Formats: sequence, C-alpha cells, structure tokens
Amino acid sequence: MDFPTRFDVIVIGGGHAGTEAALAAARMGSQTLLLTHNIETLGQMSCNPAIGGIGKSHLVKEIDALGGAMARATDKGGIQFRVLNSRKGPAVRATRAQADRVLYKAAIREILENQPNLTLFQQAADDLIVENDQAVGVVTQTGIRFHAKTVVLTTGTFLGGVIHIGMQNHAGGRAGDAPANALAKRLRELPFNVGRLKTGTPPRIDARTVDFSVMDQQWGDTPAPVMSFIGSRDEHPEQVCCYVTRTTEQTHDIIRSGFDRSPMFAGAIEGVGPRYCPSIEDKVNRFADKDSHQIFVEPEGLTTNELYPNGISTSLPFDIQLAAVRSIPGFENAHITRPGYAIEYDYLNPQDLRHTLETKFIQGLYFAGQINGTTGYEEAGAQGLLAGINAALKAQDKDEWYPRRDEAYLGVLVDDLITMGTNEPYRMFTSRAEYRLILREDNADLRLTETGRKLGLVDDERWQKFNDKRDGIVRERSRLESTRIHPNTEAGERANGFLKQPMTRDQSLAELLRRPEIDYGHIAEIGAERAEDPNVADQVEIEIKYEGYISRQADEIERLRRNENTALPLDLDYDVIGGLSNEIKQKLKDVRPETVAQASRIQGVTPAAVSQILVHLKKRD
Ligand code: FAD
Repeated sequence: MDFPTRFDVIVIGGGHAGTEAALAAARMGSQTLLLTHNIETLGQMSCNPAIGGIGKSHLVKEIDALGGAMARATDKGGIQFRVLNSRKGPAVRATRAQADRVLYKAAIREILENQPNLTLFQQAADDLIVENDQAVGVVTQTGIRFHAKTVVLTTGTFLGGVIHIGMQNHAGGRAGDAPANALAKRLRELPFNVGRLKTGTPPRIDARTVDFSVMDQQWGDTPAPVMSFIGSRDEHPEQVCCYVTRTTEQTHDIIRSGFDRSPMFAGAIEGVGPRYCPSIEDKVNRFADKDSHQIFVEPEGLTTNELYPNGISTSLPFDIQLAAVRSIPGFENAHITRPGYAIEYDYLNPQDLRHTLETKFIQGLYFAGQINGTTGYEEAGAQGLLAGINAALKAQDKDEWYPRRDEAYLGVLVDDLITMGTNEPYRMFTSRAEYRLILREDNADLRLTETGRKLGLVDDERWQKFNDKRDGIVRERSRLESTRIHPNTEAGERANGFLKQPMTRDQSLAELLRRPEIDYGHIAEIGAERAEDPNVADQVEIEIKYEGYISRQADEIERLRRNENTALPLDLDYDVIGGLSNEIKQKLKDVRPETVAQASRIQGVTPAAVSQILVHLKKRD
C-alpha cells in the first residue's frame, strides 16, 4: 500500500500545542505526521478567541521568535489589539488581541498545509506503541499503525473528558467533540501519575439581541500594536469595538438560587478549576460582599453575531444561566446561542517530565499543552514548540535544547511545571519570572531568534529583519553615547527646556535619556535625529533607562548559572547522601531534578541540603 506510515516525529492532537509542535519538527527537517481527530478543528480556540495578555503575550512573542505560528495567525485574525499596562514598566507591558476565530483558524490551517515535511491525517489515536520503554508509534481508531522515532502527545481537554451543565453530564472533549477515552485508558495503564482538572466557558450570546447603548465601549489602541516580529498592521482585518457591562445584585440572587443544582457545589465535579479564571458561581460564592462583577463583551468574529461575555463562565443549569444573563444590563432580551459548561479531563503530573518535556518513564514520548496541567492557548503553544523541537532533535540524534529561567518565560513555565508539579490549572503571570526585567515581551526576538536560527526554525526573511534591527540598535546606542550636548548651544537650550535640573556641563544624549523626565521623543528633538525603526528606538530607550536594574539582574544570573550548569544524574541515589532529612530525600526522589539549580527550587530543599548534594557530587567524581 502506497501510504506513508513511517515518520521521524508523530504529533497527536491539532490544538495549539500540537500545531506548534508539528510545525517546529517539520521546519527542522523531520518528516512529521500530525494526527488529529478532525482537520476542520486545527487551531480551534475552545474558549475565548483572544491571544496574549499579561504574561501570555511574552510566551506568544517567544514562540514567534522561534519561528512559530501563533503570533502570525493573530496578526491575520486579530480584530482588536491593545497594549495592557502601557503606563507601567516595560517588564509587565503585554499585547492582547481579540481574534476572529474563523480567520485565526484559517491562518493556522494555511501555515500547516504549506509546511514542507508535514503530513496531516484525520483520525483518533487510540493507542501508543511502546517497545522496551521507548515510544515507537501509535495505533489509530481504525487500526492504522504509524511508526516514528519520537511521539508528541498534545490531547488538551480530551482525555476522559466529561462535560457538565447543571446536574447533567456527558462524555466530550469540548462542546461538539468526542473525548479521547481509549487513549486515556491506555495512559492510565502506563506508569504516569494521572489527575483530574476542570475548566469552564460562558454561554455565548447573539449580538442582535443585545442593547449595546447601556454598555461602555472599549476600542483597541491606535495605531494598533502588532503581535509578530515579522507581522504588519496592514495584515490586520477590520478592527471592532468591545463593550463592558456588569452583573447586578439580581444576577447574584439568581445564581445563588441555582447553587443546589451546581455540579461544582453538589460534588459532581472532582477536578480543580483555574484559580484566576473562576466561574461566576464561584465568584458569587467566594466574594459574597461584592454586589457586581465586570463583564467584557467581546465579539467572536467579523462574520458571526456570537459574543463572548468574558467573566461569566458557568456550569449552572441552563434555566439559571438564561435568567442570570437576562438580569445583566444590555442582556435583558439576550438569546443564548450556546450554553456555558464545565469540562473535567485527565492531566498527567508534569513532574514525570524532563526539561525537554520528554517523559521520564518512556523515552521518545513527549507531552505538551493542557495535558500537562496548564490552561491557555499560549502556555500550550509554547510547550508544543519545545516538545516539537526536542522530538525532532532526538529523532535526528542531536543534543536536546531548552531555555533556562533567565532566558525565556518558556523556561520559567517548564521549570515550574516539572519542579513543582501542579494540582490546579497553571497559567503564566509575569510574577512567576524572577528575571522579569530581562524577560520582556519587547526583547523576545533578541533573546531567542539566534537560537531559533541555529535550530533551523528561523527562515531567511525573519533572520534578515532581525539582523537589521540588531544592527540598528547597536548603531543608535553608539550615536546616543557619543553625541554630546553642550549647555550653551541651541541643542543645549532645547534640552534645558525639558529638564527639571538644567545642564551645567556637557552631557551625552544617553546620559540625558537616563533622566526620568526625558523620553526618546525628547532626545529626538534635542539631537535633531531619530532611529527610523520605532522598534529600535523603543529597545534603545528601555536598555538605557533601565540599565542599572538590568545589569544587576544579569550579575545575579551569572552567579546562579554555575548551579544551572551542574547536572544531577536522573538515577542519583539520594539515600546515600549524608545530612539530608528523609523529607528532603523524598522530595528529591519524587522530582528527580536535572540540575543543582532545579533541586534548589524544590519547595523545602534548603541551601544546606544543596551544599550536601554538591559535596556528594565532588566526592563521587
Ligand atoms: P486543545 O486545544 O484542547 O487541542 C487538543 C487537540 O487534540 C484537539 O484538536 C483534539 O481534537 C486533539 N485530540 C485529542 N485527543 C486526540 C486523539 N486521541 N487522537 C487525535 N487527536 C486528538 N484557556 C484559558 O486560557 N482560559 C479559559 O478561560 C479557558 N477556558 C476553557 C474552557 C473550555 C470549555 C475549554 C475546553 C478550554 C478552555 N481553555 C481556557 C483552555 C484552552 O482551550 C486550552 O488551554 C488550549 O486549547 C490547550 O491547547 P492544547 O493544544 O493543549 O489542547
């Protein structure tokens, strides 16, 4: 039969993790199969069609710097773009886009279909082929056997998925899709630690039945920010308005009246939900003193009337959902097009994974995305990319790669997951990164493009544009450092007009830029010249203004790097290391850290214990 069944890499699942994994592996030259339930749902957004936001846009821009698809598709599908925290420091600034779900999906599909080395196939994977603790292939629902050197599993919320609306429930991977029960059963037979989590989504509403005149308008930024380093504002489709309304006391009374039929409160759901994205019934219950909660009313696209009411995710019975929605200003006559629901699903304890996202028990098998206990498209996409890279590297007999915590939010995400595990859906925040000032969204390209190029992920167009920007930064920095302004000149007078304390001696433009009251716009006026590329100007301004803080963080990173580079064998016998308490030994055995630095981040592992481990390693060598 002339049908390809042998590949280098197989990726199971065409969600956000799976598509990035498959694209990365294929870009690196590995013959890759993307096996998914339904080709029509490639890149589907199960919940709100929004990409980015605080902590998350950092991941999107890192995926982009490594040649991934998410930011590219966002630029093609985004119908509203904003920079959040724009008045705060650069470390916490974040780009967010509301997307048209159809345009986004189409952009992902187009990228996938045109990727050389990538084969798509629609069918459920029901079984893994494992030989001598090594993954070597998969078996589909109809018994087709595909073989590969490595396998990446990105099954999202589908493993053993159960959908709840009120006290009714049914099996499902998300609304309208079947769950992956055969594969879930198989994974439970393998030596992985399986748990249950839950997430939820709000009812969708027909815009034709909504009174927007009583809501506040929320427009995007002008000019609109761009998500991808190689994207452009010209690619953005028509931009639209979002709206803001609020729940009322009546809404809360209606919600309370449904508590006895809430699957969450009645004990029908055992999985833990996302802490930072609670359901409306959870908010009403936990914050009983609040008489109103904000709702962002966000369009799902340009060619649909469906709206996403962000903030009222719920699994209450449908009659309660309807009454609660209709008690909200502007929604008095609202028609619900899809009920809200909660979904419970299996996840695998990420402590069973290595930094490459390869499992510790089965070689050549990688897990990425929601299956690892995370929530969010961006978290999934970032893990997918990393797993795809390492699955390709392993298939090509090359050394593995993963970023450290000081190099990327992707490094923070994976290190957090595999070191501490998670028993609730994990989402990214800037506060999770200790080197926030170095890991900014504006410098993701500078941090990762070169690595991406070495790995074979970055094409010539991106590489050229990146080098132009990098050279531009060097040139502009050197111009600002070397151009001196004298107080008794025209330029000096212009400068003194902006300064709180006038200049008493000549100063470089860079020195002037370090003053709090001065920004790059002033410098351009004083020096009568500016960098042509606004991204170069932004970068130079941030680097110069925050130089002191950035160099302090860089010193700290340098000090810690020694521990990051000291590897711990996965089979290290912690029982023979003197001076470790039984509790610490147990924690180290549970996590099996890969480096001394990772060991030091395990909760309860003291600096003294780390010293004992270092002494032991020295003696062993
Ligand atoms: P998914 O996007 O779920 O993709 C999994 C893919 O794998 C699908 O294409 C599926 O068909 C395929 N697949 C599964 N099993 C098999 C198999 N055996 N064989 C072949 N193909 C298979 N995130 C947020 O950030 N905030 C939220 O509020 C939020 N709410 C959510 C509400 C609901 C109801 C759901 C379902 C998800 C929600 N999410 C939310 C999560 C977000 O959708 C996920 O984090 C993200 O989609 C995970 O990406 P993924 O690639 O891991 O999995």
